[in-house]
Amino acid sequence: MKGYNQLQFDILKLPLPSNCYSSREGAEIKALIVHCVGVPELQGVINVFKEYGVSAHYLVPQLTAAEVKEIIPEFKEIELKFPDRAPAIQLVEDSDKAFHVGISAFGNLNENPGCEKGLNACTLGIEFHAPWYGNGDGSDWYKFVNYTDLQKQTGIELIAYLMSKHNIPKELLLAHSTISIGRKTDPGPLFFWKELAEANLCILPKSDEISSKVLPEDAEAMLVSMGLTGGTFEQRVLAYQMQYAPDAYSESRIV
Ligand SMILES: [Zn+2]
Repeated sequence: MKGYNQLQFDILKLPLPSNCYSSREGAEIKALIVHCVGVPELQGVINVFKEYGVSAHYLVPQLTAAEVKEIIPEFKEIELKFPDRAPAIQLVEDSDKAFHVGISAFGNLNENPGCEKGLNACTLGIEFHAPWYGNGDGSDWYKFVNYTDLQKQTGIELIAYLMSKHNIPKELLLAHSTISIGRKTDPGPLFFWKELAEANLCILPKSDEISSKVLPEDAEAMLVSMGLTGGTFEQRVLAYQMQYAPDAYSESRIV
């Protein structure tokens, strides 16, 4: 396992106030959920979390650590090891429950204590800053934006580190859109699923399985066996495509 001190980016701690998280009350970490947030400015993202009492464990910006240091007053005196890399800003300790997924379901994860209605107690959450996703104000949740190379580098390394540290299997690296079907679209089909699959960190089924407009007869059975649940059948197909067949998603949206 790659240790904390071998990571090639800085983890900058910026604890959120106590209304933004709570205790896991004994629940164990089972899955890692990835998100994106479209608020245009980085400081604005943190302000929104505080204002609404929500959070994620980590926030990966599109800026270098040196640039982040200039923007966030709490980091003014901090010494950076990797000023040219994107840092991970840690907002909540792994051992605590961040408020990042809301109503959500996947496979048998809801059987974990405290997870009957939502998966916060048994998950870790990473937010990727994606300025203007959703038009920046949530007015179009299908307006996706690209991730930067800096974010991908740090994101892949952070995901690998957390999955190793908490023994999370690659089947349980999940998009928010996969567990809150019909309600969420983040981090979207432009997320770097292919690179993560190449690093053996997630599963990426062949995109021809549910890619065509003519769905296979066993499509529903396949979605259920993978753990996708909730929403309508069309919404489940869309959620499947956003994480597992992003090319097919793009095609179907163009039609
Ligand atoms: Zn989300």
